[in-house]
Amino acid sequence: MQKIFNYINGEMTPPVSGQYLDNYNPAEGKVYSLIPDSDERDVANATSAAKQAFPQWSTMAPERRSSILQKIADLVDRDLDKLARAESVDNGKPLNLAKSLDIPRASANLRFFATASMHFASEAHITGSEAVNYTLRAPSGVAGCISPWNLPLYLFTWKVAPALAAGCTVVAKPSELTPMTAFMLAELCIEAGLPKGVFNIIHGLGPKAGQAIIEHPEITAISFTGGTVTGKKIAATAAPMFKKLSLELGGKNPNIIFADCDLELALTTSIQSSFSNQGEICLCGSRMFIERSIYGKFVTEFVKRTKALKIGDPLDEQTKIGALVSEAHMKKILSYIDLAKQEGGKILTGGNQIKIGGRCESGYFVEPTIIEGLDAKCRTNQEEIFGPIVTLVPFETEEEVLEFSNSTAYGLSATIWTENLKRAHRVAAGVKSGIIWVNCWLFRDLRTPFGGMKQSGVGREGGWEALRFFTDAKNVCVKL
Ligand code: NDP
Repeated sequence: MQKIFNYINGEMTPPVSGQYLDNYNPAEGKVYSLIPDSDERDVANATSAAKQAFPQWSTMAPERRSSILQKIADLVDRDLDKLARAESVDNGKPLNLAKSLDIPRASANLRFFATASMHFASEAHITGSEAVNYTLRAPSGVAGCISPWNLPLYLFTWKVAPALAAGCTVVAKPSELTPMTAFMLAELCIEAGLPKGVFNIIHGLGPKAGQAIIEHPEITAISFTGGTVTGKKIAATAAPMFKKLSLELGGKNPNIIFADCDLELALTTSIQSSFSNQGEICLCGSRMFIERSIYGKFVTEFVKRTKALKIGDPLDEQTKIGALVSEAHMKKILSYIDLAKQEGGKILTGGNQIKIGGRCESGYFVEPTIIEGLDAKCRTNQEEIFGPIVTLVPFETEEEVLEFSNSTAYGLSATIWTENLKRAHRVAAGVKSGIIWVNCWLFRDLRTPFGGMKQSGVGREGGWEALRFFTDAKNVCVKL
Protein backbone atom coordinates (compact mmCIF):
# COMPACT_ATOMS: atom_id res chain seq x y z
CA MET A 1 0.00 0.00 0.00
CA GLN A 2 1.32 3.44 -0.90
CA LYS A 3 2.75 5.49 1.97
CA ILE A 4 2.72 9.26 1.99
CA PHE A 5 5.50 11.16 3.78
CA ASN A 6 5.93 14.56 5.29
CA TYR A 7 8.07 17.03 3.33
CA ILE A 8 10.53 18.56 5.77
CA ASN A 9 13.73 20.44 4.95
CA GLY A 10 13.49 19.38 1.31
CA GLU A 11 13.15 15.69 2.05
CA MET A 12 10.41 13.08 2.23
CA THR A 13 10.31 12.29 5.93
CA PRO A 14 8.41 9.68 7.94
CA PRO A 15 6.55 10.89 11.05
CA VAL A 16 8.52 10.91 14.32
CA SER A 17 5.83 8.70 15.91
CA GLY A 18 6.26 6.06 13.18
CA GLN A 19 2.44 5.90 13.09
CA TYR A 20 0.26 6.14 9.99
CA LEU A 21 -3.43 6.83 9.37
CA ASP A 22 -5.70 5.16 6.83
CA ASN A 23 -6.52 7.17 3.73
CA TYR A 24 -9.78 6.19 2.04
CA ASN A 25 -10.86 6.18 -1.56
CA PRO A 26 -14.40 7.50 -1.00
CA ALA A 27 -15.78 6.12 -4.27
CA GLU A 28 -14.88 2.61 -3.11
CA GLY A 29 -15.15 3.09 0.65
CA LYS A 30 -11.75 1.39 0.97
CA VAL A 31 -8.35 2.29 2.40
CA TYR A 32 -5.88 2.80 -0.43
CA SER A 33 -2.91 4.60 1.14
CA LEU A 34 -1.39 5.54 4.47
CA ILE A 35 -0.56 8.99 5.71
CA PRO A 36 1.72 10.16 8.54
CA ASP A 37 0.07 10.63 11.92
CA SER A 38 2.24 13.64 12.66
CA ASP A 39 2.41 15.52 15.93
CA GLU A 40 4.10 18.53 17.50
CA ARG A 41 7.54 16.97 17.02
CA ASP A 42 7.16 16.89 13.24
CA VAL A 43 5.82 20.45 13.33
CA ALA A 44 8.82 21.53 15.44
CA ASN A 45 11.23 19.97 12.90
CA ALA A 46 9.42 21.60 9.99
CA THR A 47 9.36 24.99 11.71
CA SER A 48 13.03 24.82 12.54
CA ALA A 49 13.81 24.05 8.85
CA ALA A 50 11.53 26.91 7.74
CA LYS A 51 13.20 29.29 10.18
CA GLN A 52 16.63 28.36 8.94
CA ALA A 53 15.62 28.83 5.30
CA PHE A 54 13.95 32.20 5.93
CA PRO A 55 16.94 34.60 5.74
CA GLN A 56 18.00 33.40 2.29
CA TRP A 57 14.50 33.00 0.79
CA SER A 58 13.16 36.29 2.14
CA THR A 59 16.06 38.32 0.75
CA MET A 60 16.26 36.53 -2.61
CA ALA A 61 15.48 38.76 -5.62
CA PRO A 62 11.74 38.43 -6.40
CA GLU A 63 12.65 37.40 -9.98
CA ARG A 64 14.49 34.32 -8.68
CA ARG A 65 11.71 33.34 -6.32
CA SER A 66 9.30 33.88 -9.17
CA SER A 67 11.16 31.65 -11.58
CA ILE A 68 11.27 28.75 -9.08
CA LEU A 69 7.53 29.05 -8.42
CA GLN A 70 6.81 29.21 -12.15
CA LYS A 71 8.91 26.08 -12.63
CA ILE A 72 6.68 24.33 -10.08
CA ALA A 73 3.61 25.55 -12.03
CA ASP A 74 5.14 24.15 -15.24
CA LEU A 75 5.54 20.77 -13.55
CA VAL A 76 1.94 20.86 -12.30
CA ASP A 77 0.85 21.50 -15.92
CA ARG A 78 3.05 18.66 -17.13
CA ASP A 79 1.49 16.27 -14.58
CA LEU A 80 -2.10 17.49 -15.07
CA ASP A 81 -3.50 14.04 -15.85
CA LYS A 82 -1.67 12.31 -13.00
CA LEU A 83 -2.61 14.97 -10.46
CA ALA A 84 -6.24 15.13 -11.62
CA ARG A 85 -6.61 11.37 -11.28
CA ALA A 86 -5.05 11.43 -7.82
CA GLU A 87 -7.39 14.26 -6.75
CA SER A 88 -10.41 12.37 -8.02
CA VAL A 89 -9.41 9.14 -6.27
CA ASP A 90 -8.60 10.93 -2.99
CA ASN A 91 -11.66 13.18 -2.85
CA GLY A 92 -14.36 11.37 -4.86
CA LYS A 93 -14.87 14.27 -7.27
CA PRO A 94 -15.42 13.61 -10.98
CA LEU A 95 -12.12 13.24 -12.84
CA ASN A 96 -13.39 15.71 -15.44
CA LEU A 97 -13.81 18.38 -12.79
CA ALA A 98 -10.35 17.78 -11.34
CA LYS A 99 -8.93 18.06 -14.86
CA SER A 100 -10.81 21.20 -15.83
CA LEU A 101 -10.95 23.05 -12.50
CA ASP A 102 -8.82 21.83 -9.59
CA ILE A 103 -5.44 21.23 -11.14
CA PRO A 104 -5.46 24.05 -13.73
CA ARG A 105 -6.41 26.43 -10.94
CA ALA A 106 -3.57 25.12 -8.73
CA SER A 107 -1.12 25.92 -11.50
CA ALA A 108 -2.80 29.31 -12.08
CA ASN A 109 -2.45 30.15 -8.36
CA LEU A 110 1.28 29.45 -8.46
CA ARG A 111 1.78 31.41 -11.65
CA PHE A 112 -0.41 34.32 -10.57
CA PHE A 113 1.46 34.94 -7.31
CA ALA A 114 4.87 34.14 -8.83
CA THR A 115 4.37 36.98 -11.30
CA ALA A 116 2.41 39.28 -8.94
CA SER A 117 5.33 39.40 -6.52
CA MET A 118 7.45 41.04 -9.22
CA HIS A 119 4.94 43.91 -9.40
CA PHE A 120 4.36 44.23 -5.67
CA ALA A 121 5.38 47.68 -4.50
CA SER A 122 4.97 49.76 -1.40
CA GLU A 123 3.88 53.33 -0.88
CA ALA A 124 5.61 56.64 -0.24
CA HIS A 125 3.90 59.59 1.44
CA ILE A 126 5.49 62.97 0.94
CA THR A 127 4.66 65.36 3.79
CA GLY A 128 5.02 68.65 1.95
CA SER A 129 8.63 69.88 2.14
CA GLU A 130 9.05 68.58 5.68
CA ALA A 131 9.40 64.79 5.45
CA VAL A 132 9.28 61.71 3.29
CA ASN A 133 7.54 58.58 4.56
CA TYR A 134 7.99 55.27 2.86
CA THR A 135 6.55 51.89 3.69
CA LEU A 136 8.77 48.86 3.95
CA ARG A 137 6.93 45.57 3.44
CA ALA A 138 9.02 42.70 4.74
CA PRO A 139 8.01 39.02 4.58
CA SER A 140 6.35 38.09 7.89
CA GLY A 141 8.48 35.04 8.73
CA VAL A 142 7.33 31.44 8.96
CA ALA A 143 3.71 31.17 7.85
CA GLY A 144 1.31 28.35 8.77
CA CYS A 145 -1.14 27.38 6.02
CA ILE A 146 -4.02 24.97 6.69
CA SER A 147 -6.50 23.93 4.02
CA PRO A 148 -9.64 21.76 3.71
CA TRP A 149 -10.56 18.67 1.66
CA ASN A 150 -13.07 19.98 -0.85
CA LEU A 151 -10.70 21.55 -3.39
CA PRO A 152 -7.48 20.05 -2.09
CA LEU A 153 -4.63 21.25 -4.32
CA TYR A 154 -6.58 24.31 -5.51
CA LEU A 155 -6.99 25.72 -1.97
CA PHE A 156 -3.61 24.50 -0.73
CA THR A 157 -1.79 26.45 -3.45
CA TRP A 158 -4.13 29.44 -3.00
CA LYS A 159 -2.46 29.94 0.42
CA VAL A 160 1.01 28.58 -0.09
CA ALA A 161 1.74 30.42 -3.38
CA PRO A 162 1.27 33.97 -2.02
CA ALA A 163 3.15 33.09 1.17
CA LEU A 164 6.17 31.83 -0.77
CA ALA A 165 5.95 34.59 -3.38
CA ALA A 166 5.95 37.22 -0.63
CA GLY A 167 9.16 35.72 0.78
CA CYS A 168 7.77 33.80 3.74
CA THR A 169 8.80 30.25 4.42
CA VAL A 170 5.94 27.86 5.08
CA VAL A 171 4.74 25.01 7.25
CA ALA A 172 1.51 23.73 5.69
CA LYS A 173 -1.04 21.03 6.38
CA PRO A 174 -3.60 19.72 3.89
CA SER A 175 -6.68 17.94 5.17
CA GLU A 176 -6.05 14.46 6.50
CA LEU A 177 -8.91 13.31 4.19
CA THR A 178 -7.20 14.48 0.98
CA PRO A 179 -3.41 14.52 1.38
CA MET A 180 -2.33 12.95 -1.92
CA THR A 181 -1.88 15.90 -4.27
CA ALA A 182 -0.03 17.93 -1.60
CA PHE A 183 2.35 14.98 -1.30
CA MET A 184 2.78 14.95 -5.08
CA LEU A 185 3.36 18.72 -5.05
CA ALA A 186 6.23 18.16 -2.61
CA GLU A 187 7.85 15.85 -5.16
CA LEU A 188 7.48 18.56 -7.81
CA CYS A 189 9.04 21.15 -5.47
CA ILE A 190 12.09 18.93 -5.10
CA GLU A 191 12.27 18.49 -8.88
CA ALA A 192 11.95 22.26 -9.42
CA GLY A 193 14.89 22.93 -7.10
CA LEU A 194 13.02 24.78 -4.38
CA PRO A 195 15.66 25.39 -1.68
CA LYS A 196 15.47 23.09 1.34
CA GLY A 197 13.26 24.18 4.21
CA VAL A 198 11.43 26.92 2.29
CA PHE A 199 8.24 24.88 2.10
CA ASN A 200 7.36 22.08 4.50
CA ILE A 201 4.27 19.87 4.46
CA ILE A 202 3.00 18.06 7.52
CA HIS A 203 0.29 15.42 7.18
CA GLY A 204 -2.01 14.27 9.94
CA LEU A 205 -5.01 15.10 12.06
CA GLY A 206 -6.28 18.65 12.48
CA PRO A 207 -6.59 18.66 16.28
CA LYS A 208 -3.07 17.20 16.61
CA ALA A 209 -0.78 18.24 13.72
CA GLY A 210 -2.90 21.26 12.74
CA GLN A 211 -3.22 22.50 16.29
CA ALA A 212 0.57 22.16 16.76
CA ILE A 213 1.07 24.54 13.80
CA ILE A 214 -1.31 27.08 15.33
CA GLU A 215 0.40 26.83 18.72
CA HIS A 216 4.01 26.98 17.56
CA PRO A 217 5.47 30.28 18.78
CA GLU A 218 7.80 30.67 15.77
CA ILE A 219 4.91 30.52 13.28
CA THR A 220 3.70 34.09 13.28
CA ALA A 221 1.06 34.22 10.52
CA ILE A 222 -1.77 31.72 10.09
CA SER A 223 -3.79 31.37 6.92
CA PHE A 224 -6.67 28.94 7.43
CA THR A 225 -9.53 27.74 5.24
CA GLY A 226 -12.08 25.38 6.74
CA GLY A 227 -15.20 25.22 8.87
CA THR A 228 -16.41 28.01 11.15
CA VAL A 229 -16.23 25.83 14.27
CA THR A 230 -12.56 25.00 13.58
CA GLY A 231 -11.94 28.66 12.75
CA LYS A 232 -13.20 29.64 16.21
CA LYS A 233 -10.81 27.17 17.88
CA ILE A 234 -7.92 28.47 15.82
CA ALA A 235 -8.73 32.07 16.66
CA ALA A 236 -8.98 31.17 20.36
CA THR A 237 -5.43 29.79 20.27
CA ALA A 238 -3.82 32.29 17.92
CA ALA A 239 -5.38 35.55 19.11
CA PRO A 240 -3.79 35.57 22.61
CA MET A 241 -0.45 34.84 20.91
CA PHE A 242 -1.04 37.95 18.73
CA LYS A 243 -0.53 36.01 15.51
CA LYS A 244 -1.67 37.41 12.19
CA LEU A 245 -4.79 35.53 11.16
CA SER A 246 -6.63 35.04 7.90
CA LEU A 247 -9.73 32.87 8.24
CA GLU A 248 -11.79 31.68 5.27
CA LEU A 249 -14.75 29.82 6.76
CA GLY A 250 -18.14 28.33 5.97
CA GLY A 251 -21.03 29.70 3.97
CA LYS A 252 -24.78 29.37 3.43
CA ASN A 253 -24.97 31.30 0.23
CA PRO A 254 -28.13 32.74 -1.32
CA ASN A 255 -28.82 32.28 -5.03
CA ILE A 256 -31.38 35.00 -5.82
CA ILE A 257 -33.42 34.60 -9.00
CA PHE A 258 -35.55 37.54 -10.13
CA ALA A 259 -38.37 37.09 -12.65
CA ASP A 260 -36.58 39.28 -15.21
CA CYS A 261 -33.47 37.08 -15.35
CA ASP A 262 -32.07 35.33 -18.40
CA LEU A 263 -33.89 32.12 -17.45
CA GLU A 264 -31.78 29.73 -19.49
CA LEU A 265 -28.50 31.10 -18.11
CA ALA A 266 -29.86 31.18 -14.57
CA LEU A 267 -30.97 27.54 -14.86
CA THR A 268 -27.77 26.21 -16.40
CA THR A 269 -25.54 28.05 -13.95
CA SER A 270 -27.72 27.23 -10.93
CA ILE A 271 -27.31 23.53 -11.68
CA GLN A 272 -23.56 24.10 -11.40
CA SER A 273 -23.70 26.39 -8.37
CA SER A 274 -25.89 23.87 -6.57
CA PHE A 275 -24.25 20.54 -7.38
CA SER A 276 -20.70 21.00 -8.71
CA ASN A 277 -18.22 18.96 -6.70
CA GLN A 278 -21.24 17.28 -5.00
CA GLY A 279 -22.12 20.68 -3.52
CA GLU A 280 -18.88 20.59 -1.56
CA ILE A 281 -17.74 24.08 -2.54
CA CYS A 282 -17.90 26.84 0.06
CA LEU A 283 -19.34 29.13 -2.66
CA CYS A 284 -22.22 26.86 -3.71
CA GLY A 285 -25.60 28.58 -3.62
CA SER A 286 -27.39 26.26 -1.21
CA ARG A 287 -30.39 28.53 -0.58
CA MET A 288 -32.28 29.42 -3.75
CA PHE A 289 -34.73 32.30 -3.57
CA ILE A 290 -36.98 32.51 -6.62
CA GLU A 291 -39.39 35.34 -7.40
CA ARG A 292 -42.90 33.95 -7.03
CA SER A 293 -44.12 34.87 -10.52
CA ILE A 294 -41.63 32.44 -12.13
CA TYR A 295 -41.40 29.97 -9.24
CA GLY A 296 -43.42 27.15 -10.82
CA LYS A 297 -41.81 27.44 -14.24
CA PHE A 298 -38.28 27.64 -12.81
CA VAL A 299 -38.73 24.77 -10.37
CA THR A 300 -40.18 22.37 -12.97
CA GLU A 301 -37.21 22.89 -15.28
CA PHE A 302 -34.64 22.91 -12.45
CA VAL A 303 -35.90 19.59 -11.09
CA LYS A 304 -35.93 18.06 -14.58
CA ARG A 305 -32.31 19.05 -15.22
CA THR A 306 -31.19 17.89 -11.78
CA LYS A 307 -32.73 14.46 -12.38
CA ALA A 308 -30.68 14.20 -15.57
CA LEU A 309 -27.32 14.62 -13.77
CA LYS A 310 -25.33 11.41 -13.96
CA ILE A 311 -24.21 10.12 -10.56
CA GLY A 312 -21.51 7.52 -10.77
CA ASP A 313 -17.91 6.38 -10.79
CA PRO A 314 -15.81 9.58 -10.54
CA LEU A 315 -13.36 8.18 -13.10
CA ASP A 316 -16.13 7.79 -15.70
CA GLU A 317 -15.98 10.67 -18.22
CA GLN A 318 -19.79 11.05 -18.18
CA THR A 319 -20.11 11.42 -14.40
CA LYS A 320 -21.34 14.77 -13.09
CA ILE A 321 -21.85 13.84 -9.43
CA GLY A 322 -19.16 11.74 -7.75
CA ALA A 323 -18.73 10.43 -4.21
CA LEU A 324 -18.86 12.47 -1.01
CA VAL A 325 -15.51 12.79 0.71
CA SER A 326 -16.08 10.41 3.63
CA GLU A 327 -18.61 8.17 5.31
CA ALA A 328 -18.90 10.62 8.21
CA HIS A 329 -19.67 13.46 5.82
CA MET A 330 -22.24 11.33 3.99
CA LYS A 331 -23.98 10.58 7.30
CA LYS A 332 -24.01 14.29 8.11
CA ILE A 333 -25.65 15.07 4.74
CA LEU A 334 -28.27 12.33 5.22
CA SER A 335 -29.02 13.62 8.73
CA TYR A 336 -29.75 17.07 7.27
CA ILE A 337 -32.17 15.50 4.77
CA ASP A 338 -33.98 13.91 7.74
CA LEU A 339 -33.97 17.24 9.55
CA ALA A 340 -35.45 18.98 6.49
CA LYS A 341 -38.29 16.43 6.43
CA GLN A 342 -38.94 16.94 10.16
CA GLU A 343 -39.05 20.69 9.56
CA GLY A 344 -41.79 20.20 6.95
CA GLY A 345 -39.68 20.16 3.79
CA LYS A 346 -40.89 18.39 0.67
CA ILE A 347 -38.25 16.52 -1.34
CA LEU A 348 -38.76 17.29 -5.04
CA THR A 349 -35.98 14.99 -6.18
CA GLY A 350 -33.18 12.99 -4.53
CA GLY A 351 -33.03 12.60 -0.78
CA ASN A 352 -31.31 9.22 -0.62
CA GLN A 353 -27.99 7.49 -0.42
CA ILE A 354 -27.41 5.70 -3.68
CA LYS A 355 -25.63 2.47 -4.46
CA ILE A 356 -23.40 2.39 -7.52
CA GLY A 357 -22.41 -1.03 -8.79
CA GLY A 358 -19.00 -2.45 -9.61
CA ARG A 359 -15.91 -1.12 -7.87
CA CYS A 360 -18.02 1.72 -6.34
CA GLU A 361 -20.38 -0.64 -4.53
CA SER A 362 -19.33 0.59 -1.07
CA GLY A 363 -18.77 4.24 -2.02
CA TYR A 364 -20.33 7.30 -0.40
CA PHE A 365 -22.89 8.56 -2.93
CA VAL A 366 -25.94 10.75 -2.27
CA GLU A 367 -28.44 11.91 -4.89
CA PRO A 368 -28.60 15.62 -5.72
CA THR A 369 -31.50 16.77 -3.59
CA ILE A 370 -33.98 19.64 -3.96
CA ILE A 371 -36.21 20.59 -1.05
CA GLU A 372 -39.08 23.10 -0.94
CA GLY A 373 -41.63 24.22 1.60
CA LEU A 374 -39.19 25.25 4.33
CA ASP A 375 -39.21 28.50 6.24
CA ALA A 376 -36.18 30.70 5.47
CA LYS A 377 -35.32 30.77 9.19
CA CYS A 378 -35.43 27.00 9.93
CA ARG A 379 -32.25 25.09 10.78
CA THR A 380 -31.98 23.50 7.33
CA ASN A 381 -31.90 27.02 5.89
CA GLN A 382 -29.54 28.42 8.51
CA GLU A 383 -26.80 25.79 8.95
CA GLU A 384 -24.08 24.90 6.47
CA ILE A 385 -24.69 21.40 5.03
CA PHE A 386 -21.90 21.36 2.41
CA GLY A 387 -23.35 18.70 0.17
CA PRO A 388 -25.61 18.17 -2.87
CA ILE A 389 -28.67 19.74 -1.25
CA VAL A 390 -30.47 22.95 -2.13
CA THR A 391 -33.62 24.46 -0.73
CA LEU A 392 -36.10 26.53 -2.76
CA VAL A 393 -37.99 29.46 -1.23
CA PRO A 394 -40.27 31.81 -3.22
CA PHE A 395 -40.17 35.56 -2.55
CA GLU A 396 -42.32 38.57 -3.46
CA THR A 397 -40.16 41.67 -3.07
CA GLU A 398 -36.56 42.87 -3.03
CA GLU A 399 -36.87 43.77 0.66
CA GLU A 400 -38.09 40.28 1.50
CA VAL A 401 -35.33 38.49 -0.37
CA LEU A 402 -32.69 40.71 1.22
CA GLU A 403 -34.07 39.84 4.63
CA PHE A 404 -33.98 36.10 3.78
CA SER A 405 -30.50 36.34 2.31
CA ASN A 406 -29.03 38.15 5.29
CA SER A 407 -30.77 36.01 7.92
CA THR A 408 -27.93 33.52 8.56
CA ALA A 409 -24.76 33.83 10.62
CA TYR A 410 -22.76 33.46 7.39
CA GLY A 411 -21.78 35.99 4.73
CA LEU A 412 -19.48 34.36 2.20
CA SER A 413 -20.96 34.75 -1.28
CA ALA A 414 -24.23 35.45 -3.10
CA THR A 415 -25.47 35.16 -6.67
CA ILE A 416 -28.04 37.53 -8.18
CA TRP A 417 -29.93 36.88 -11.42
CA THR A 418 -31.61 39.89 -13.04
CA GLU A 419 -31.44 41.83 -16.29
CA ASN A 420 -32.25 45.05 -14.42
CA LEU A 421 -28.93 46.78 -13.85
CA LYS A 422 -30.19 49.20 -11.20
CA ARG A 423 -31.64 46.34 -9.19
CA ALA A 424 -28.45 44.32 -9.56
CA HIS A 425 -26.40 47.13 -8.02
CA ARG A 426 -28.98 47.78 -5.28
CA VAL A 427 -29.23 44.15 -4.21
CA ALA A 428 -25.46 43.59 -4.48
CA ALA A 429 -24.97 46.49 -2.06
CA GLY A 430 -27.65 45.14 0.28
CA VAL A 431 -26.49 41.53 0.62
CA LYS A 432 -24.05 41.08 3.50
CA SER A 433 -21.54 38.79 1.76
CA GLY A 434 -17.93 39.26 0.79
CA ILE A 435 -18.30 37.97 -2.77
CA ILE A 436 -21.25 38.79 -5.04
CA TRP A 437 -21.80 37.39 -8.52
CA VAL A 438 -24.33 39.01 -10.84
CA ASN A 439 -25.52 36.80 -13.72
CA CYS A 440 -22.62 34.38 -13.24
CA TRP A 441 -21.10 32.11 -10.61
CA LEU A 442 -17.52 31.20 -9.69
CA PHE A 443 -16.19 33.59 -12.29
CA ARG A 444 -12.85 34.46 -10.73
CA ASP A 445 -10.28 37.17 -11.35
CA LEU A 446 -7.45 36.31 -8.97
CA ARG A 447 -6.72 40.00 -8.33
CA THR A 448 -10.04 40.56 -6.56
CA PRO A 449 -10.44 40.44 -2.75
CA PHE A 450 -11.76 37.06 -1.67
CA GLY A 451 -13.33 36.34 1.72
CA GLY A 452 -16.39 36.40 3.89
CA MET A 453 -18.29 38.62 6.30
CA LYS A 454 -19.80 37.66 9.67
CA GLN A 455 -18.99 34.04 10.62
CA SER A 456 -17.64 33.31 7.13
CA GLY A 457 -14.27 34.70 8.01
CA VAL A 458 -11.80 37.39 8.84
CA GLY A 459 -9.51 39.03 6.29
CA ARG A 460 -9.29 38.75 2.53
CA GLU A 461 -7.23 36.60 0.19
CA GLY A 462 -6.38 37.21 -3.47
CA GLY A 463 -4.21 39.74 -5.28
CA TRP A 464 -2.45 42.37 -3.21
CA GLU A 465 -4.55 41.44 -0.16
CA ALA A 466 -2.74 38.10 0.07
CA LEU A 467 0.72 39.55 -0.51
CA ARG A 468 0.01 42.23 2.11
CA PHE A 469 -1.11 39.55 4.58
CA PHE A 470 2.18 37.69 4.29
CA THR A 471 4.26 40.87 4.72
CA ASP A 472 4.59 43.30 7.64
CA ALA A 473 4.35 47.00 6.91
CA LYS A 474 6.81 49.36 8.53
CA ASN A 475 6.69 53.10 7.98
CA VAL A 476 9.99 54.98 7.80
CA CYS A 477 9.69 58.75 8.31
CA VAL A 478 12.69 60.80 7.13
CA LYS A 479 12.67 64.47 8.16
CA LEU A 480 13.96 66.68 5.39
P1 NDP B 1 -12.32 21.66 8.88
O1 NDP B 1 -12.49 22.95 9.61
O2 NDP B 1 -12.77 20.42 9.54
O3 NDP B 1 -10.80 21.43 8.48
C1 NDP B 1 -10.03 22.35 7.75
C2 NDP B 1 -8.56 22.09 8.01
O4 NDP B 1 -8.27 22.39 9.36
C3 NDP B 1 -8.16 20.63 7.80
O5 NDP B 1 -6.84 20.58 7.30
C4 NDP B 1 -8.22 20.09 9.21
O6 NDP B 1 -7.43 18.94 9.35
C5 NDP B 1 -7.66 21.27 9.98
N1 NDP B 1 -7.99 21.31 11.41
C6 NDP B 1 -9.02 20.73 12.07
N2 NDP B 1 -8.96 21.03 13.39
C7 NDP B 1 -7.88 21.83 13.56
C8 NDP B 1 -7.28 22.47 14.68
N3 NDP B 1 -7.78 22.37 15.92
N4 NDP B 1 -6.17 23.20 14.49
C9 NDP B 1 -5.65 23.35 13.26
N5 NDP B 1 -6.15 22.75 12.16
C10 NDP B 1 -7.26 22.01 12.30
O7 NDP B 1 -13.03 21.89 7.48
P2 NDP B 1 -13.26 20.81 6.36
O8 NDP B 1 -11.94 20.23 5.94
O9 NDP B 1 -14.37 19.92 6.80
O10 NDP B 1 -13.74 21.73 5.13
C11 NDP B 1 -15.04 22.11 4.94
C12 NDP B 1 -15.28 23.52 5.47
O11 NDP B 1 -14.38 24.42 4.83
C13 NDP B 1 -16.67 24.00 5.13
O12 NDP B 1 -17.20 24.65 6.26
C14 NDP B 1 -16.42 25.00 4.01
O13 NDP B 1 -17.39 26.01 3.91
C15 NDP B 1 -15.11 25.57 4.40
N6 NDP B 1 -14.46 26.16 3.23
C16 NDP B 1 -14.34 27.53 3.18
C17 NDP B 1 -13.80 28.13 2.06
C18 NDP B 1 -13.63 29.62 1.99
O14 NDP B 1 -12.90 30.07 1.11
N7 NDP B 1 -14.26 30.39 2.83
C19 NDP B 1 -13.35 27.33 0.91
C20 NDP B 1 -13.52 25.91 1.09
C21 NDP B 1 -14.05 25.35 2.22
P3 NDP B 1 -8.07 17.46 9.17
O15 NDP B 1 -8.99 17.49 8.01
O16 NDP B 1 -6.87 16.67 8.92
O17 NDP B 1 -8.77 17.18 10.45
